Amino acid sequence: MSTASTSASAALLDRARRVTPGGVNSPVRAFRGVGGTPRFIASAKGPWMTDVDGNEYVDLICSWGPMILGHAHPDVERAVSEAASKGFSFGTPSENEVALAEEIVRRVEPVEQVRLVSSGTEATMSALRLARGFTGRTKVVKFAGCYHGHVDALLAQAGSGVATFALPDSAGVPESNAHDTIVLPYNDIPALQAAFVEHGDEIACVITEASPGNMGVVPPAEGFTAALRRVTRDHGALLISDEVMTGFRCSQAGWFGLEGPQGDGVPDLFTFGKVMGGGFPAAAFGGRADIMSRLAPDGPVYQAGTLSGNPVATAAGLATLQGCTPDVYGRLEVAARAIAAAASEELDKAGVPHVVQWAGSMFSVFFRDRPVRNYDDAKAQDTEAFGRFFHGMLDQGVHLPPSAYEAWFVSASHDDAAVSKVIDALPGAVRAVTEGSR
Ligand SMILES: *Cc1c(COP(=O)(O)O)cnc(C)c1O
Repeated sequence: MSTASTSASAALLDRARRVTPGGVNSPVRAFRGVGGTPRFIASAKGPWMTDVDGNEYVDLICSWGPMILGHAHPDVERAVSEAASKGFSFGTPSENEVALAEEIVRRVEPVEQVRLVSSGTEATMSALRLARGFTGRTKVVKFAGCYHGHVDALLAQAGSGVATFALPDSAGVPESNAHDTIVLPYNDIPALQAAFVEHGDEIACVITEASPGNMGVVPPAEGFTAALRRVTRDHGALLISDEVMTGFRCSQAGWFGLEGPQGDGVPDLFTFGKVMGGGFPAAAFGGRADIMSRLAPDGPVYQAGTLSGNPVATAAGLATLQGCTPDVYGRLEVAARAIAAAASEELDKAGVPHVVQWAGSMFSVFFRDRPVRNYDDAKAQDTEAFGRFFHGMLDQGVHLPPSAYEAWFVSASHDDAAVSKVIDALPGAVRAVTEGSR
């Protein structure tokens, strides 16, 4: 059991619960998947986080991706301070937003234009509206286990079977809304084809995570992205590639940079967030100019935001993207491979079934004996074993994402000292897994 004191975190959680549901502002932070007291972080620098009790952790959450350069990177801090010294928000156009849009367009070849928003949820919600406005159709296809933010139409999850009209996965989402969402199993080309045979002329778009990371890391099987491109094009539907998590993380051009055009084509629209905000609320959707030009004020699809393109957030995002050099991607790769190899070795030694899956330097460890190709596979993992492993690591100063369904994130600041601390914690965490299972 934990020897670290958590009394200050526990006291803050008590205070928080009185004024905020569950004491948190985003559910996964509450540790419901792993039990125990969430750690309130007081400060962070590079790969390290310090909680309000003074415990130090190597951070393998990295704010769920954005802190790709490490916490409080000096270049980003400077850009933020400089921007903030000139005012926080104008409600008029400003230069930083142009520069950030240019940087995104420069990196991701098929993206001709972007619109900036403040969260990944807003990006996918707006891309969906645009796809519906552009095609004049209403139905959308999504895949079970893919998360696209908490957009009503996209919270629907898997009904089993092909082309099942989904029931809402969250209370408060009207059935009338979920009714237009078709949920399919991921990596299942026949299911995709069958849905289009039945509803092809009603489907506005298919939205998919470029390489899913929200059921753990489950990359597209050979030929799956190509099939998505082919089937959508054949039926006049748009393909939206959600790169909120993978964008600018898997490579300089995100997952698209690794996979390239597929099935003789590229996605029509992309969504971005996380890394491109550098830890601040900035996100985007973009793609072909003929589609993007349907947005107001050029076109009839309305979309707006008081803080969209905020000068401080865009300064942070731009400095972060400019810092994402080939060298940075090399360092992510080295740190991630070292951690994953050591974890796998320790688990092997103890005979604990597991698989490690990758998307660039993004990876996750599933406590399961077979590869995970879709959400049903992901749900078959041993989440209790993960919970014991998680706490074994946390007790030794390594903060993993508090859920078996999440990727592990490293930053370019994860140096030898940080990686060694993770590796040194593994034997104890694996012992917690095996001893707990007796
Ligand atoms: C995080 C995420 C979102 C939602 O972004 P928020 O900024 O949390 O609204 C959407 N899609 C994917 C793939 C994500 O990982």
